[in-house]
Order: sequence, then structure tokens, then C-alpha cells
Amino acid sequence: IIKFDKVGKSYGSLKVLDGLDFEVKRGEKVTIIGPSGSGKSTVLRVLMTLETINDGVVYVGNEPLWHEQRSGALVPAGEEHLRKMRRQLGMVFQQFNLFPHMTVRRNIAEAPVKVLGLSRQDANQRAEELLEMVGLADQAHKYPHQLSGGQQQRVGIARALAMRPKVMLFDEPTSALDPELVGEVLNVIARLASEHDLTMLLVTHEMRFAREVSDRVCFFDKGQMKEQGTPDELFTAPREQRTRDFLKAVL
Ligand code: ATP
Ligand code: MG
Repeated sequence: IIKFDKVGKSYGSLKVLDGLDFEVKRGEKVTIIGPSGSGKSTVLRVLMTLETINDGVVYVGNEPLWHEQRSGALVPAGEEHLRKMRRQLGMVFQQFNLFPHMTVRRNIAEAPVKVLGLSRQDANQRAEELLEMVGLADQAHKYPHQLSGGQQQRVGIARALAMRPKVMLFDEPTSALDPELVGEVLNVIARLASEHDLTMLLVTHEMRFAREVSDRVCFFDKGQMKEQGTPDELFTAPREQRTRDFLKAVL
């Protein structure tokens, strides 16, 4: 459902993605791990079209992200194409990015009304179901500043799910949280991961969690995927020295 085909991206002379080949299949739960600056967030930002690329092709659901196929030739994609592609993805950031002046329920219901054209009533009902799912049924009418960081992040997850994305992207969703709030967010993500249809791509420093929820773990270094495998393969018997060094430092 997602494919990076020899993707290159540079900032000036700094290569952030270097001929990256990377794939996520429908329904898979994939985790990216790797040192700071290895390009993990860039992969997610490229998918959300928050960044462009210099080389290669990125596919979402078999369609190139940046280019449209027209009479056999690839042409730059228009705004409408990008919106359509982006709509297949839901992203949860490190910072919660909730709208401060909207209630929790409205934070979740706003985009389904504005973008998907749901009625306010249907969107509110869906928002309440999602709040129930993330364990915040009783917080619908509060404002973000009245919630803890862990609660805000769970609202962030509900908001992304409200758009019914095919793929959920998470970029270190717990790294801005106090340690005692990490568990409640990871529990919600783990519950999502047990849903078979949802495809998940997660960047995390929580190695134990990665091991529990992933079908596949990918180790990134210097803008390339250096090694991938099942959690057991990668954490118990990494093949590459670079992977072993990284795991030794973080485990
Ligand atoms: P971390 O674990 O610290 O989040 P990461 O693997 O997510 O790291 P990226 O955020 O993808 O790393 O960044 C990859 C590299 O690109 C880093 O060296 C970063 O400094 C650089 N970079 C990111 N954004 C920009 C920018 N707008 N301009 C210049 N360099 C950038
Ligand atoms: Mg990052």
C-alpha cells in the first residue's frame, strides 16, 4: 500500500534519504527504528506531502504520490491529486497539534464535516464512538488545555481515525509525554494494531513496544533501510553490525 522506490532527498549537500527502498503491505504493522537524523520522520513527512523528494518515486495504494500517469508519461501532480492521496493517510505527531479553541469532540468531528461532508450530527456521533475507543468518553466537552498530555495524544489518535484513513502514521507519539502517561497511549495504539484491516507505520524509540505490536521492524541509518525483519529476527539476531551497535545503545 506504500512503496518508496529508490527515493532520494537532500537539504543542500545533506542526504536525508539516500536511494531508499521501503515497502508496507496492506494490513501490515511496521515499525521504523534508527538513530537520530536517519530520516525516519522524513519518510512520514514525505508521505503526508509535507516534504518533496529529489529522486525516485513514492507510491500510496499503487499510485505515485507526486506524479500522475497521463497518456504514458509522468506529469507533476496537481493539488487535487495530492489531497486525494493525503486523505488515505492519518498522521499522529509527537506534538499533539489539537485546535486549542475547539472542544475535544469538535477537534475530532471538524474535518469529517468540512472535508468528508458528514452531517454535524453524524460526525459528532462518530467522534463519541472514537472517544469511547480511546477511553475518553467522558471528556468530549473539555478543551485540550484541560487534558493531560496522554489524553491529548489519545484525542489526536481519535482525530486521525475519524477521517477513516487506510494507513495510520505515528511519529514518536509518546516522546513528548511524561513517563507515567506513555502506557495509556501505547495501549490505545496496541489495540489499533490488533485491527486486521488497518495498516500502521510507526516511528518509535519504545523498543519493547515495537517488539510487541509490529509484524516487521525496519532499521534505518543514514537515509537507507539497513536491515528489516520480524521483531524476533531484528531484536534477537540482527545481521548487521550497525544494527547491533544501535540496539546495544538503546536497549
Ligand atoms: P529523530 O530520531 O531525531 O527524530 P529522524 O530519523 O526522524 O531523527 P529526520 O527528522 O528525518 O530524522 O531528519 C533527517 C535529517 O534531515 C536530519 O539530519 C535533520 O537535521 C535534517 N533536516 C530535517 N529537516 C530539515 C530542514 N528543514 N532543513 C535542513 N535539514 C533538515
Ligand atoms: Mg524524527
